[in-house]
Amino acid sequence: DMEKQGHWQGEFWNKRKNGEDYAQRLSISAITDETGKVQQYAALIGDITKRKQDEERIRYQANYDSLTELPNRTLFLDRLNFDLARMKRGQGKLGLMFIDLDGFKLVNDTYGHPTGDRVIKSLSRLLQQRLRKVDIVGRVGGEEFAVILIDTDVENAERILNELREHFAAVVHHSGETEFQCAFSCGVANFEDYETAQDLNEAADRALYAAKNAGRNQVVLARTDK
Ligand code: GH3
Ligand code: MG
Ligand code: MG
Repeated sequence: DMEKQGHWQGEFWNKRKNGEDYAQRLSISAITDETGKVQQYAALIGDITKRKQDEERIRYQANYDSLTELPNRTLFLDRLNFDLARMKRGQGKLGLMFIDLDGFKLVNDTYGHPTGDRVIKSLSRLLQQRLRKVDIVGRVGGEEFAVILIDTDVENAERILNELREHFAAVVHHSGETEFQCAFSCGVANFEDYETAQDLNEAADRALYAAKNAGRNQVVLARTDK
């Protein structure tokens, strides 16, 4: 590039003496005479830390949820497609779980939105604490979470989710002087039973809907006709 165009430019991170990272852009241009022979080079260094930070923040906001810091729907669906492909190559068993808080409109209406937010955060913390690092948790809607348990068959997944469900349903939340509890329902679908991420999603969604219809605070396994 430098040889042909007479210009080179690159961006890189550097460290200040105080240990802080900063980004620099370095551009070098060749200054030539009438015959095209390089006389000297001009170098320009600019601090682009702010722009780099903006770019990173935008990337983060596009992929993560700000309340819980969990992957959002976009990033979760990316991972889902990735894991589905991995499973199709015969590597591991995977289950997809959709979780939705029960009667949450009433929680908001009775105790207010900030209290509702705290309930969402407490479920997010529980999921992050109780599941392994390899498992994938996303906040895919307002009070909806999705989980992929890696290398776990559906029966195991169902058992794990039931433990989480019982644990969470017993948590006592506070709103001023008042105490209350809030459960969740869960639908589980087995990756092996579906060809596409779309089918898998719909199956987990139907199972969740069945859990709600059956009275909430329960985990339902997607039924297949196989
Ligand atoms: P169901 O048991 O059928 O799920 O009843 P529900 O009342 O939970 O119904 P639904 O799941 O449809 O309603 C979700 C409610 O969650 C609606 C909305 O007011 C509330 N919600 C969505 N996002 C947020 C949020 O970020 N914070 C709070 N506090 N509430 C939220
Ligand atoms: Mg909902
Ligand atoms: Mg709900």
